[in-house]
Amino acid sequence: MASTYDFDLFVIGGGSGGVRAARVAAGDGVKVGLAEESRYGGTCVIRGCVPKKLMVFASEYRDMTEDARAYGWDIKDGPFDWPAFQKNLHTELDRLEGVYRNLLANSGVETFDSRARLKDKHTIVLDDGTEKTAKTILIATGGYPVRPDLPNADLGIVSDDIFDLESLPKSILIIGGGYIACEFACILHGLGVEVTQYYRGAQILRGFDDEARGLIAEAMRARGIDLHVGTDIVEMWPAGQAHDALTGSDAAMGAEGSDKAAKQGGVHGGPVCVKSTTGGEKTFDMVFFATGRAPSSRDIGLQEAGVILGRKGEILVDEFSRTAVDNIYAIGDVTDRVNLTPVAIREGMAFVETVYRDNPTPVDHDLIPSAIFTQPEMGTIGLSEEAAAAQEEIEVYASSFRPMQTAFAGREARVLMKLIVSRKTRVVLGCHIVAPGAGEMIQLAGIAIKMGATKEDFDRVCAVHPTMSEEIVTMRTPIRTA
Ligand code: NDP
Repeated sequence: MASTYDFDLFVIGGGSGGVRAARVAAGDGVKVGLAEESRYGGTCVIRGCVPKKLMVFASEYRDMTEDARAYGWDIKDGPFDWPAFQKNLHTELDRLEGVYRNLLANSGVETFDSRARLKDKHTIVLDDGTEKTAKTILIATGGYPVRPDLPNADLGIVSDDIFDLESLPKSILIIGGGYIACEFACILHGLGVEVTQYYRGAQILRGFDDEARGLIAEAMRARGIDLHVGTDIVEMWPAGQAHDALTGSDAAMGAEGSDKAAKQGGVHGGPVCVKSTTGGEKTFDMVFFATGRAPSSRDIGLQEAGVILGRKGEILVDEFSRTAVDNIYAIGDVTDRVNLTPVAIREGMAFVETVYRDNPTPVDHDLIPSAIFTQPEMGTIGLSEEAAAAQEEIEVYASSFRPMQTAFAGREARVLMKLIVSRKTRVVLGCHIVAPGAGEMIQLAGIAIKMGATKEDFDRVCAVHPTMSEEIVTMRTPIRTA
């Protein structure tokens, strides 16, 4: 019997998760529509992982050219040409967006370049008023960067803005101590920007292994990043303007107040004066808020359709990504489970298995490897030493040393290889690597750990010599037990 709906499945959001679910379902013969209000590829491809990683590569050439001289190359330092890099960057992003569009078209998904809102549990309304009906709806709208609730916060940029800057500032203040703050502190420093970072807590990268994050903080400071922990921003105003003028009614911000300020300094920077919790006042060319992201769940008719949201606006779902409404599912950052691209993709695949392949598949959020692209990088999977010790008796194996390649060039940089092992089962509960290329290493170590490898399994593997990662199979004696 023909379906009474326009589509079997309508996906709202054309990011990594939404596109994967749409095209795999369409490949199975499901009639799929997808709406995207911005650019196809979503945060990861357009304003996240991909352009960020290209900026990481760009920023690493400064050290490389310095080190190359120690290896005998006659290489001169030159200035970094931001417009030249940016042109290539946007050409690449345009290409990738085209790839995403083609993937959808070739798998038979009908796309709509429009915002989509739910009218009811089976009806979607597009910007031009067109209505589409669907048996099943998948919400994959992602998240967006948030500024703190601070007067004049619109004077600062967020991560979405960084790729479109007309020029790089001479100095920048980065607020936050999470992934984005630390990655961009290293990137911008590498590109020649004077970077100051304020983090309100005691140590950056909260939640990760203490020893690993301590080493990263130390390395960032050694590179010249002016990192202040236990420090936050309390006030900001356009430089050259008495800040009293903005701390009265204008300072209640609102769109008007911030627009006024923006015209004097520019939303994308313009010198900004900042007062910190430690009392000092300082002027920066730009302030960058890396203070977290929120789920994009507003103004799309979710609650009206019966979908239940959590305190942060995240869509509440069960283990199969099903919302409180039986035909509406949600995947990716909008559900605020584990906000990483590969996780959203897996959630999309599990949704297809569950709904279209008669194979109910709960999403496995356990032991997810990830990387933080600071300099040096961190690759991590499983429990930190602190979390593991709180759970059971453990042995800690760790080795910290100066790697051959940069030690030869006279650098003090150290790397860390660390395994957390259960004393009872011998299973490796966590692996934390701080080293150039740690993201690549943890992907492979992650396979063994996900398989439940014991320390003795690691020991049975012959070292690959000379490499940094050989340490992971040659550490024989625990440095401590807990
Ligand atoms: P995070 O949640 O990781 O970090 C936010 C930071 O901002 C924290 O240090 C937090 O402090 C601080 N903060 C929050 N609110 C305020 C405030 N009002 N004033 C001052 N500081 C504040 O978010 P990010 O934006 O860095 O990243 C978002 C997510 O994106 C990550 O969780 C991750 O899932 C993903 N991501 C992953 C990457 C990767 O895999 N390499 C790279 C980039 C992003 P506190 O610690 O005290 O809460």
